[in-house]
Amino acid sequence: MKPINLYDLDKEALIALLAEWGYGRFHAALLWENLYRRHLTAVTDMTDLRPDLRQRLQAQTTLSVPAIAAVNDSSDGRTRKYLLQLADGQTIETVLMDFEGREGAGDGRPSPRATACISTQVGCAMGCVFCATGQMGFTRHLTPGEIVVQALHVQRVLAGRGESLRNMVLMGMGEPLHNYDHTMAALAILTDHKGLAVAPKHITLSTVGVVPGIRRLADEQRPYRLAVSLHGATDAERQALVPPAKRWPLAELMDACRYYVTQRKRRIFFEWTLIAGQNDTPQQAHALGQLLHGMAAHVNLIPLNPTVGYDGTPTGATAARRFQQILADYGLPSTVRQRRGIDIAAGCGQLKAARNDDARNNGIWQRIEKPKA
Ligand code: SAH
Ligand code: SF4
Repeated sequence: MKPINLYDLDKEALIALLAEWGYGRFHAALLWENLYRRHLTAVTDMTDLRPDLRQRLQAQTTLSVPAIAAVNDSSDGRTRKYLLQLADGQTIETVLMDFEGREGAGDGRPSPRATACISTQVGCAMGCVFCATGQMGFTRHLTPGEIVVQALHVQRVLAGRGESLRNMVLMGMGEPLHNYDHTMAALAILTDHKGLAVAPKHITLSTVGVVPGIRRLADEQRPYRLAVSLHGATDAERQALVPPAKRWPLAELMDACRYYVTQRKRRIFFEWTLIAGQNDTPQQAHALGQLLHGMAAHVNLIPLNPTVGYDGTPTGATAARRFQQILADYGLPSTVRQRRGIDIAAGCGQLKAARNDDARNNGIWQRIEKPKA
């Protein structure tokens, strides 16, 4: 029988497992603390657990920690990207961004906005044309534990410089609402106040617009911030970039978004990848302004990170500012996000894509560790 990966279990499941073995809640609480407060990765190091419990855990469970297959830094030193290898050999990306951190980061002083960018799937089934992960296709969902260990990895890195993990975005590889249950299970573990205790309002879940998932988040009153990737403000224009737009047309998507805002009493962040000549025209900005007018919304504009499988180019600063100005005329706040770390192929899925093809590697690797056997 396959051993249980302890990182897959939420607190109730851990309590239930230990109860089955005859141990009370106290022991489960100790184990939880060892996992998520002390960040121990070997049961043998959990010396406050009873020896018989340790033995049973060793015999019947695992703590599956991914190997670091590659690490890559951006030239400004503010984005570090990890390619993590999972137990079955599949690789995923996890990124540490000193997002809007203090200028001159790297001087050893803590950055107040360090953010972990986490993956939820190996590959992605949605097939957005400009996205390196979409170009790879879908391999499999991540388990809750495989999502959790990415945050633990970043936490360990931050702890090494005297910080702790406070901000997370689910904007790595994959579509979180296509892997709804495992994503929610992982977030429950990461936000537990006796564990890592990341504040739910500091977690942003980004979706391509999976309508049933957005409605479920609203109905279940999930306390995370929601970002919806739009990229087009008419069905035809959106469908050209985002294939799932055919399944969930804009009218349906916007209905779900309004429902979310009403139920949750929270604004939504809309992501818009700016592609020169494709979706950055004043006409498109007006269409977006009209679409979102009157809604509690904030637009994040992200100039395209070029990928091998798509020949679009990023919008320049002047056109981005003009786009922003038009949105402002509709009362819509927006931010142009810096394309930080483009030099290390820091877009979604691009590290893995480059790794898959050594010819494209161009010596971008800072360090490649041999994954554990
Ligand atoms: N699947 C989810 C979350 C992961 S992608 C989603 O699509 O929202 C996170 C964000 O990165 C999305 O807004 C996506 O459109 C954007 N993105 C993907 N590839 C990109 C690229 N090459 N350049 C700029 N943004 C990109
Ligand atoms: Fe998947 Fe998001 Fe990439 Fe689209 S942008 S292919 S939904 S990861």
